[in-house]
Amino acid sequence: MIISDFLVLNDYGLYCRTGDFYLDPKAPVFNAVISHAHGDHAVPGNENIYCTGATSAIMNLRYKRNAGNNFTICEFNHSFLINGVEITFIPAGHILGSAQVLLQYKGIKYLYTGDYKLQADETCEPIEFSEADVLITETTFADPDVQHPDPVSEIEKLNLSEHNVLLGAYSLGKAQRLINLISVHCPQRKILVHHAILPLNKIYENYNYLPGKYEPYNRKLMKTPGQNYVYLVPPMTFDSYFRAKNVVRAFASGWKRLQQNNDLEIYISDHVDWNDILAMISEVKPKEIWTLHGDGTKLKEYFNNQIPIKILNKC
Ligand SMILES: [Zn+2]
Ligand SMILES: [Zn+2]
Repeated sequence: MIISDFLVLNDYGLYCRTGDFYLDPKAPVFNAVISHAHGDHAVPGNENIYCTGATSAIMNLRYKRNAGNNFTICEFNHSFLINGVEITFIPAGHILGSAQVLLQYKGIKYLYTGDYKLQADETCEPIEFSEADVLITETTFADPDVQHPDPVSEIEKLNLSEHNVLLGAYSLGKAQRLINLISVHCPQRKILVHHAILPLNKIYENYNYLPGKYEPYNRKLMKTPGQNYVYLVPPMTFDSYFRAKNVVRAFASGWKRLQQNNDLEIYISDHVDWNDILAMISEVKPKEIWTLHGDGTKLKEYFNNQIPIKILNKC
């Protein structure tokens, strides 16, 4: 029987009382099971951390000595126990090392997606599907109005101009995916990478997910006209260049609001859109869906109790 409060949301995050651990806690806890290394899922300072090798490498790069105390590296598709709850990490296709977390207890499977995507991405482990009784899914873009365009046609917009491009993107995951997409689909473009992104590229390369061809940024290069450069920068640097001249500004994201005031719109997201959430649900075949991150109401309306949907709120 499904335990209705097997996972509850409290001030620290999503808590499993039976196993006495948190999934992606928002503040340091004793036992943290971490789906992936993005800052809103992986905080520093936990006592015991269970995550994939790549997630651990990225957390240790970013948080250094504060990363957390005891890291247990979990292989994909190998089960282990925390206080009687069987845990399995399954590739989520979101960024390098990102995992869905399958929890099994008393014969019931609870699948926590973390962030995930179904689109192809050469720079991370492709998503794998697993059936479960309860699907706990993020609902960042759970709205029928959100349908991500094909990322290849989005990146090919860079082929329409010969101007140098200032391309903003999140340093972890998106930056590496863009390097790969540009290398493959815009072969005449040369990629310059901001120094903050370079150590993350190195971790990707260590895991044999080679983003593509790029060089570290150098001011002189970018000033040379007609060289077809794309300068890839993190969001803060992108914002600080709002007055940059003779350059096409673009920010690669699934969010509409991040496309405003730019010269070019590039809709590339590492989250599922509406159709991909529905595809995920048909793969997992859940008896119940619990939602978090974003808004689950559109999903609830859509399934109209064919599949019961619970929107997890803090309790
Ligand atoms: Zn993420
Ligand atoms: Zn997230």
